[in-house]
Order: sequence, then C-alpha cells, then structure tokens
Amino acid sequence: MKKLFFLLLLFISCQNFSQETMTPLEKSDFKKLTTHSELSQFIKEVDDKSDLITTEVFAKSPEGRELFVVYFSKGEFGKDQSKIKVLIFAQQHGDEQSGKEGSLLLINELLKPENQYLFDKIDFALVPLMNPDGSEKDKRRNGNEMDLNRNHLILTEPEVIGLHQLFNKYLFEVTMDVHEYWPFGESSKKFGYHENYDETIGAITNINISEKLRKLSYDKYLPFIFNYISEKNFSAFHYLPGGSSESENLRYSTFDINDGRQSFGIQNTLSFIQEGLNGERSSLDNIEHRAKGQMIGMLGLLKFSYDNKDEIKKLVSAERKNLEENKTDGKVAIQLNHFSDGTELKLNLVSYNSGNDTVITTRNFRSVVKSLYDVDRPKGYLIPKNLKEVTDWADRHELKYYDYNKSINSKIEQYFITNIDSIDFEGDMVVNPGVMKTDVTNQINSSDYIFIPVNQLRNNMIVIALEPKSELGLVTYKQFEHLLKKGENYPILRVTN
Ligand SMILES: [Zn+2]
Repeated sequence: MKKLFFLLLLFISCQNFSQETMTPLEKSDFKKLTTHSELSQFIKEVDDKSDLITTEVFAKSPEGRELFVVYFSKGEFGKDQSKIKVLIFAQQHGDEQSGKEGSLLLINELLKPENQYLFDKIDFALVPLMNPDGSEKDKRRNGNEMDLNRNHLILTEPEVIGLHQLFNKYLFEVTMDVHEYWPFGESSKKFGYHENYDETIGAITNINISEKLRKLSYDKYLPFIFNYISEKNFSAFHYLPGGSSESENLRYSTFDINDGRQSFGIQNTLSFIQEGLNGERSSLDNIEHRAKGQMIGMLGLLKFSYDNKDEIKKLVSAERKNLEENKTDGKVAIQLNHFSDGTELKLNLVSYNSGNDTVITTRNFRSVVKSLYDVDRPKGYLIPKNLKEVTDWADRHELKYYDYNKSINSKIEQYFITNIDSIDFEGDMVVNPGVMKTDVTNQINSSDYIFIPVNQLRNNMIVIALEPKSELGLVTYKQFEHLLKKGENYPILRVTN
C-alpha cells in the first residue's frame, strides 16, 4: 500500500513537472512563436528547477537582448576530461524559428529520466537563440543588419564573438549549427517540384579540415542520423543548396569558413549544420512538426556523441594536436571548387501540382571539393603593428601572437600585387589578385611587426584568412579590401624557413 502511494506521488509529481515545463510554444498550443522575453523566462524556470542545468548570458545583441547558453552536466561543466563536450546553437537567422522552438523542446526532452544517461558521458551546451534581434522581427539579419552566418571569419558581431569565446573556453569536440531551408522559391515553382525533407544535414566540406574527421562525418554520422530521424517518422537527407530546379548541379553546402559549421570545423571539430524545412507561407506554418523534427535531429547528435564518445574524442584530440604542433600537410588550399565524380544522386521531390512524391536522378552531382590553388604553409605571418584592423581581428579570435624576433634561419617574404582580377566562388565573383613574391628578409624592421605563428588551433584559418589570393580571405570582405592595391606591396608578410 505504502509502495503504491509512493508511486502515485511520483506519478503526480512527474505530471506536474512536465506541465510546468511546457515550452511557451506548447503553452500556446503551437499557435504563437516564443518571444525573447518568454524564452528568457522559460530558461530561468528550468534553471531553477533542475540540478542538471545551469545557464549563463554569454553575449548581448546590438539591440541589447541577452543571449543564453544552457549547460547540461552531471558535475561541473567542462571539468571531467573523460566526457565529450557538445555544442548546439540555433537560429542565427532570425526568420528560421524552428531551431529555437526545437531547442526549447529539447530542454524538456533531456530532463526526462530516460534521457539523463546521456550526461554520464556528455557535457552539453545549448544556445537556443543566436539572433534575438532578428527573431523578434522574424527577419534574417541582426540589429546591425548583418548576416551572422557569414560573420565567423571577420567576427565583427557581438553574438558571433560571444559564441567563439564560448567555444574557445571549452573547445567542444562536436558542434552543430541549426537552420532552416526554404525550397519554395520561384525557380522551384517553375520547375514544378520542390524538396520536402523535414531535416537536411550537412557535414564539413572544406578540404583543409582533417580527412579522417570528414570521413567519420560522411561514413558514420550521416547514415546514422538519416536512419535515426526516419525511425521517428520524420524524413531526412543531405543538405544540398542550389534548389531542386538546379538539380543538374547540386552540391554539398559551401566550403567557406565564415559560417558556424565550417568555422569550428576548420579547428578540427566534428561539426555539422542541420537545416529543417521552413514554413511555406509563414514562420508559423506547421511549426509543431518543424520544431519536433529539429528537436529529434539535435537529440540524434547527442545519442551519436554518446555512442561514439571514445572514437570522436581520440580523433579530434589527435587531429587538433597536428594543427597545434604544425605537423599537418604542408599545403593549404585557398581556391577551391565543387566537382562531380560521376556519382548519381536520387533526390525525393514533391510536385507543386499534384502534391505527389517523385524521384529525380541527377547526373551532375558535384559532391567532391578539390583545390584549384595551394600555398605552402608558412611558419607564420607578420602584421604591421599599425594595421590595427588586423591586430584587432586577431584579438577577437583570441589568436596567439607576440613581438617578432628575427631568427637566423627564417626567411621573410612579401607579395607585390601585379593586378587584380576576379574568380568565381560558388556563383559569386570575388577578387583574385596576381602576386609576385619577393624576399625581404634583410629589409624589414622587426619591431614594427607582431608575429602570428600558425602552430595553433586556428592554423588553417590563419592561412586562409591572410593569404592575398585566398578566395575565402579577409581581402574578400569590404572591411579589409583596402589591403589589396594594384602596383603596391601587400602589407602582411610571410615567415618561412
Ligand atoms: Zn539559416
């Protein structure tokens, strides 16, 4: 009898718990999107209620809204070195609401007793809303009219700076950036079909990232997650930008390192992007299904991290060590393109007219990224101390640098810009200067420079950012384009030996 009474009490308290922790979207019966103030209230509630959770404000948006990170840990977050650290961040684009709503559902899901085993092996940090300014207005950009997911290299926006500081503090082994895709454009309508997957997932594509990590992503994670999501009765496939009407040249998403996925990937992190299906007419369309699909994808990443903890930790640690000790490939690819290797791709589409599913086979699936232009990896770069926009940039990335002391064996090289041409980069034209390299070892005054060595975690990023011919480099951004002047020397120097 006593036992029964206890069980009854437990049942009642569980009922209460799930009642009280309904997300704002659930409370509205999926009729109203969660506002920033509702989100902050909800986060405070779960923080108060659960010992598993601690929360923190890690940044403020240009319009003064707080960005929250929710930490899940059975001990002090980040302290137990045997655990795997996972970071998921959502809604960098303010009009992609299901990332935030799915994240809040995920918080409740993870508080269920049956999921708490995950935190025997995982320390998990969740950022449900990266762009509160955009979210409030249901628009893509933040309060400074900047696209946060093109800001991870120049790092000018407080939301993105905060995220990278968070990453640097814990050095997460696994990261995922959560978005939405919108396949309903005019070109799809004309074509008559559009993509209809609930979830699409992209892995790292930049070929400077560890090949072993890319292999683990494509051979192990993607098959796992497609299966995991479909077992829960949602559909999933590769994230393939380009849209169905351009199915003749479909490819994986960009190799640029200025987005959430690749900016952590380039530091040899197992890093993904998840893109759920957007609402066709509004951000509220079908939101219950969309939010649940996102939640399931995120939960799947945690299960995969749990199941493969030792393999991932060992691989990430070894591949990061290669960057930090500069024991990696001597070449860095700074101009790249997508190519077909003959692989045919079967794509499920849905017809605008009949609503029926159809399968399209595309013969020109550009699934392979190859280098068009490499540079030799230098020992590091010399930045003139008076080039404040670049030294500030190095500070924002928390790069290691110091005053330069010329060593006996080192050679210092300078680029002379002979002309400025352009090159096609995934459909956009970016600058492509002609360069002539000269030896200036005995001509520079070392006290005028700081030295950024490449033997650090952002090794590849430093080279990709600072080489003048890099199609992903700083010079391709408005803020830095003045570094490139025809008939003049490029001010940043290379140190080799
Ligand atoms: Zn997006």
